[in-house]
Order: sequence, then C-alpha cells, then structure tokens
Amino acid sequence: MGWLDRWLGRKPFSSSQELLSDAQLVPTNWASSQPHLALLKRFLSARDAKDGFPDYWATAFGMSPQCVIDGMVAHGALEPLPLLEKIEFCHTVAELRKILSSRGLKVSGKKAELVQRLLEADPKDMEKLCAHRMILRCTPAASQGVSRWEAEQATALETATDDVIAALSNRNCKAAIRSADAYRNNKFEPPVHPAQEAMTIHPAPRSIEERANDLATVFTMRPKILKGLQPEQWEGLYLNYAVWQLLGRVAPEKCMPGFAGFGVMDSATVTRMLSFYVKHQRDLARWRELGIKRATIFGVGGCEACLALYNKTFSLDKLPELPYKDCTCDLGCRCLVRADLGI
Ligand SMILES: [Zn+2]
Repeated sequence: MGWLDRWLGRKPFSSSQELLSDAQLVPTNWASSQPHLALLKRFLSARDAKDGFPDYWATAFGMSPQCVIDGMVAHGALEPLPLLEKIEFCHTVAELRKILSSRGLKVSGKKAELVQRLLEADPKDMEKLCAHRMILRCTPAASQGVSRWEAEQATALETATDDVIAALSNRNCKAAIRSADAYRNNKFEPPVHPAQEAMTIHPAPRSIEERANDLATVFTMRPKILKGLQPEQWEGLYLNYAVWQLLGRVAPEKCMPGFAGFGVMDSATVTRMLSFYVKHQRDLARWRELGIKRATIFGVGGCEACLALYNKTFSLDKLPELPYKDCTCDLGCRCLVRADLGI
C-alpha cells in the first residue's frame, strides 16, 4: 500500500473527501462481481481513468463509475503506471522529440530511450508534465480475476450449448429454453446508452409454452432449397439453428460434425437459409392474419433464378417459397419480400 499512500499524498484524482468515502463503498469482493470485472477488463491494458467509463454504467454499480475506479485503486485492483511508462503513454514520439530538442538534448532513439533521456535530465519537470492525468491498469491480481471470469464465461457457454443440444436431441424444447434462459440471465450484459435503450423495441414476453411450440415447429420444416439433405444433416441443421436462436452463437462443430457442405453451401449458409425460411413462414402467417393479400419480391444482385423474381408482385397463395428453391447463389438466396399494404 506504500505506493497508494504516496500517490494519495501527492494529489488524488478524486480530490473531494466525499468522493473518497464513496469509493470506500465499493465492495471488496469485486472478484465475484461481474460489473466490476467488466470494468477491470477495460483496464487490462493501460488507459486514462477519465475516459474509463460512461456515466450510464452507474446503473450496473449503484454509484458513479468514477467512484468505482477510485475504489478499485483503493482495493489494489487498479494501479497507476510508473512514471516512465506513464510518460510513454501520454506522449507521442513527435512530442517527446520536440521536448528533447527544446532542451538541447539528443532526439534519436526508440520511444522508451527518449523518455529515459528526459527523465535523467529533469525528473521533476517530467513528473509535472503529465501530473494532471491518471493512467491506470489492472494489478496482477485483477488481471488474474478477469482471466478467471472470462474462462468461467466460456465454460458456461459451452455447458449451456451442450445442455441445449442434449435437450433438443430428445425434442425437449422447454428444457432447452430453460437452459438457455438460465445462461442468459446469469450472463453480464453491459448497460445500454439511455438514448439507444429508448430506441429499442422490446417484444412482449411470451410464455415458455408458446416459445417451445414455435421451436418444435422448426424441427418439422423442410425448405425446398435444402431438398436433398440427408436425415442426419437435417438433424444437425435444426440443432445448429436452435442453438443460434437460443444462445446467440452457432456451434457447427457440435451440432453438424462432419458436415462437408451441401452443394455450394457451407454450414453457415444452410443455417442462414433455414433461418430465412422460418422467418418468412412466420411473416406470411402474420400477413394472412392481418388480411394482407399480396407481396412483392425484390433485391439487389443474385443468381439468374432470383433476378427473374425481382420486382414481381404475387398474391400470397402464389408467392414462391423463400429462400427460392432454384437459387444457385454461393451464399444462398438473398431475395427480400415486402407485404403490399392496403390491397
Ligand atoms: Zn439466388
């Protein structure tokens, strides 16, 4: 703690007593707090304490991020850079050369050598030069805490993926959804900027029964563009799609081992084609409910078969299945479709 006393004695960057006492409210068990670990992660390499965190992160901490940073310093999780490194961080080579030249010193050499030369010539002055800035980085203990947390997160995602695959292999959609929800609820999501939050439309919460039914339906879908897939390939594809929907990641190595491609399509493309089909089927069902009668296919670029459909309007009953079965695009069908309102 010697360095801390010395540093506080010099000039703490939270100069008011009030802020310092707030900093003492930062929990000492930061190593088990995800928001605190997320904060520390940003300091794995040195950064200026002032641009460490936006204020809206206060919702995650229950206090201003600046107070948390102060507290992390007090707890020995963050430490200021030693002077030499701090000067290196705060100044460009060009700036250092300018200072050297103004003092009649040699301007050649690597950055660390330039700093060393300036420090030897006038250590006090160099200290003053960037005294107003507080550059912090994780202490070794904090770095270890962050690494441990990252490893735990990766393990939790793999476990959740395995659980979801196991449940879906038995067609237990509810169990799969529960596993995925448990993982997501426990995963730290960084706070969102209030302006962005205000622009976000949150879909109405749906019952687990509804979600399970929707998921079960996907396992019966057979988009024509993928006609010719082998039974085990369909199974792997459904699993990969479901893992993506539930956990936000694909896992072809677990769901589709040995998948060598389907024509020109790789595992990512066939998964995207199934997703396109599912979305299109759901859109169609909703449009029918709304009494919409027609839709127009459009798009930019694509194979001849797709181009032939662009800007054509169809009644919903005659609308070609999308993704289009005759599409030969490497990356799969890219047709888009819009409902014609008011017809
Ligand atoms: Zn195409």
